[in-house]
Amino acid sequence: MTTLPPPIRAYRTLGPELLEDLRRSGYQRIALQVPAGLSMSARSYAEEITRATGASVVLVARACFGACDPPARAEVPGAEALVALGHAPIPNMPVSMPMYLAEMRLGKADPARVAETLVAAHLPSRLGLVASIQHLDDLSPVIEALGARGIEAQIARGPPRLAYPGQALGCNYSSATALEEKVDGFVFLGTGRFHPLGLALSVERPVWALDPLQMLLEGPFDRQGMINRRLLEIERAMDAKVWGVLVSSLAGQSRGALARRLVGKAEARGREAMVITFDRLFPADLLGRGVDAYVSTACPRIATDDGSSYDRPILTPPEFLSAIGERPLMPYLFDAFP
Ligand code: SF4
Repeated sequence: MTTLPPPIRAYRTLGPELLEDLRRSGYQRIALQVPAGLSMSARSYAEEITRATGASVVLVARACFGACDPPARAEVPGAEALVALGHAPIPNMPVSMPMYLAEMRLGKADPARVAETLVAAHLPSRLGLVASIQHLDDLSPVIEALGARGIEAQIARGPPRLAYPGQALGCNYSSATALEEKVDGFVFLGTGRFHPLGLALSVERPVWALDPLQMLLEGPFDRQGMINRRLLEIERAMDAKVWGVLVSSLAGQSRGALARRLVGKAEARGREAMVITFDRLFPADLLGRGVDAYVSTACPRIATDDGSSYDRPILTPPEFLSAIGERPLMPYLFDAFP
């Protein structure tokens, strides 16, 4: 078990240790939040918690994107604690009730096969590794297996938003950027393209992704192509006279002070700007607002991954600063959430 400053506690799985911790705390009502991928099992997890603790469980139905969006107290009336599955804690996020995270780690990779796959693909001999929380336990054995095959692989810490060395979070790849000068490429261990794409925007080194269960290697990702698409969005927003500054009310996505600074910057450049708040954002929410372009201070992936679903350009804060002439367009800066 990893103990973090109260009231956030993290466990590898929803196992006896976590359940016993809940039982000893004597909660009568517990909120349970599960990511979309585990929603089919939510009921059985709730029953397991009730069986072990005697507490009743309130299931949070709204979609959950990460550890950054725990339910506010008003969403779970009467709940004394929250159990959240599938995410690592965000140590510097304020929480409104005790939060117990079951990270649902897998750690099932075969390190020799992973290393041989990377060697066979002729990757650089100095590699930085990052992993999703589910595969974080694979990092050390893979580093050892790579070392035995002549590849020097490293991981680094990325506090304060990241809880673990080598951890990848879609809004913060500081565990990789901390290594950038020491390596010639990065490998992400995990599934899907969400993390490798964010990583590729964050580092000026080639990025590969290896699914350690399917043993599928992808990459290097087209960083320049991604940047070019972002530059087009910035260009589309350069003449915007009225800006909407988006602020999320979710605990781990809220940057109100930054939003106010950006309003000041826009006004200093002769533009109008207004703050627009939301919890979850849908393209229809921004229709007909009389706004020419948006800058999002919430999850940076709203702009970089979902921006094309909106009818006006949505930029990240560094992109916004480029659009109004406050910073050069290049080098491209990923909006790493602090
Ligand atoms: S801010 Fe975005 S990328 Fe970061 S944890 Fe939340 S959903 Fe994931």
